[in-house]
Amino acid sequence: MNQSTPPPVSPGALEVVALGGLGEFGMNMMAMSWGDTTIVIDAGVMFPDPDQLGVDLIIPDLSWLEQRRGQVKALVLTHGHEDHIGGVPHVMSLIDGPVYGTAFTLALVEPKLEEHEINFAGRLKTVKPRETVRIGPFSIEFIRVTHSMPDCVALAIETPVGTVVHTGDFKIDQTPLDGEHFDLHRFAELGQRGVLALFADSTNIDRRGFTGSDIEVIEGFEEIFTSTSGKLVVAMFSSSIYRMQIVVDLAAQFDRKVAFIGRSMAKNAEIAQRLGYLRVPVGVQIRDSDVNDLPAQDVVCITTGSQGEPQAALPRIAIDDHRHVRIGQDDVVVFSARAIPGNEKAIARTMSHIARRGADVITDGMKHVHVSGHGSAEELKLVLSLIRPRYFVPIHGEYRQLAQHARIAKRVMSGPDRRVEVLLASDGDIIRFDAGSGRIEGKAMVGRVLIDMTRTGEVGDEVLRDRRNVAAEGIVVAVLAISQQTGAIVGEPEIIPRGFVFDPDEETSLFREASLVLRELMASTSVEERADQGLMTERVRIELRRFFKKRTGRRPLVLPVLMEI
Ligand SMILES: [Zn+2]
Ligand SMILES: [Zn+2]
Repeated sequence: MNQSTPPPVSPGALEVVALGGLGEFGMNMMAMSWGDTTIVIDAGVMFPDPDQLGVDLIIPDLSWLEQRRGQVKALVLTHGHEDHIGGVPHVMSLIDGPVYGTAFTLALVEPKLEEHEINFAGRLKTVKPRETVRIGPFSIEFIRVTHSMPDCVALAIETPVGTVVHTGDFKIDQTPLDGEHFDLHRFAELGQRGVLALFADSTNIDRRGFTGSDIEVIEGFEEIFTSTSGKLVVAMFSSSIYRMQIVVDLAAQFDRKVAFIGRSMAKNAEIAQRLGYLRVPVGVQIRDSDVNDLPAQDVVCITTGSQGEPQAALPRIAIDDHRHVRIGQDDVVVFSARAIPGNEKAIARTMSHIARRGADVITDGMKHVHVSGHGSAEELKLVLSLIRPRYFVPIHGEYRQLAQHARIAKRVMSGPDRRVEVLLASDGDIIRFDAGSGRIEGKAMVGRVLIDMTRTGEVGDEVLRDRRNVAAEGIVVAVLAISQQTGAIVGEPEIIPRGFVFDPDEETSLFREASLVLRELMASTSVEERADQGLMTERVRIELRRFFKKRTGRRPLVLPVLMEI
């Protein structure tokens, strides 16, 4: 990528560029520069669509930061969701200074850095709400907000041209489970003092009214606990610590033991307990390997896989492919998360597998088992009213959501004592504020980088696979014809390499072995698994990648194509 001298920041101007999160859902990242100091706010990832084969994660193109190497003085994190911290390991080498975040946020960042073997000694700086840190011309105050996980903050950034408020993700939960309230007072004070620009979360702008508190799901879960005679399995995001607490408390009340199932679920539950954000009464927690030893009615499993991801715990449990957990008659499986657009099919497949085993499926539409973490229209209006910014920049959302937030902001900000100018920006738009005005001026190079992670072994063996890497390692397309009746491979699997040069003598035997690997894989899977295209595609991908790595030392991008005939 281009490493020439950085494009000059106009003297006496504040420049803000979203590298991701404006015009799409996820990979939130923003760069803010004054003179030769740049700070980065959040470093998130986005998860790929199911048809983006061979891609595990997507992060923003980092050229803008690479051009400012040596000037990027800090990374500031609002909270610990993947769309805000998932990319931290990938930007660390570009940050010439500390990473600021609250205790829980940094506790979630730490294992990611360890997995990537990044030396971060002394670089993670824990901050508390109402604390201020100074980075060159910027003075950054952390302000508590409520969301679907603990320890989330908004930022009030004092710059030479005025105060900029960045909300991070939030809703206004007036009965937070942990008693840590949204700091509405501080928002009001800042508004009173005068705010140059507000950057605010637009995720739920389409929803009327107020989102509601996390504790609202307690009633729904109580009913489920009361009426379930078998095992209870609750799928949720592994970051939903409040939801975990609610299920744990009910488990204790209803004399059930709790097992955290799935790698990220077990890890996050451990971190949250260690830091005191999740309290599990003594004797309530069991290991996943203990689930089978207890009568079904004595167990609750809290699992990953609410999105139907083939490698996560619930989809595996759903096809009897989990080492310790089985489901059957009288068991109840609760989907306690929203379906991220694009995942509907995978989720529906998982639900069908569960139903086929005689267990009941409960979703948000049937009982109140999920509350969003993002504020609805009234909450977003309230924040606008409190802050009364001179400029408003909607962030976090697809363009239509940003545009809707802009429309609503204009309505909220009408009246003699208020005036607002909306800057409806997309990723890469350079937003420039100087003494007199704010405007969008110019475009930075932005885009997406696809990350391919081989999920072998305990530690994620991760490879950054941008265009250069694909060129170096090549691509292998595997075409398999699968019989619709039997699920068996028909004919010989076809292996098509691109940019992957083999020794011609070796090539024939290599491909023969590869197709043997695929036949063995097919032979070892059940008819039901073979009928699940998403699952089989993932299996083929993992097996072939493992094979090519072992035999050739390369890590080509493997794209399986399964054709039913
Ligand atoms: Zn979030
Ligand atoms: Zn977010």
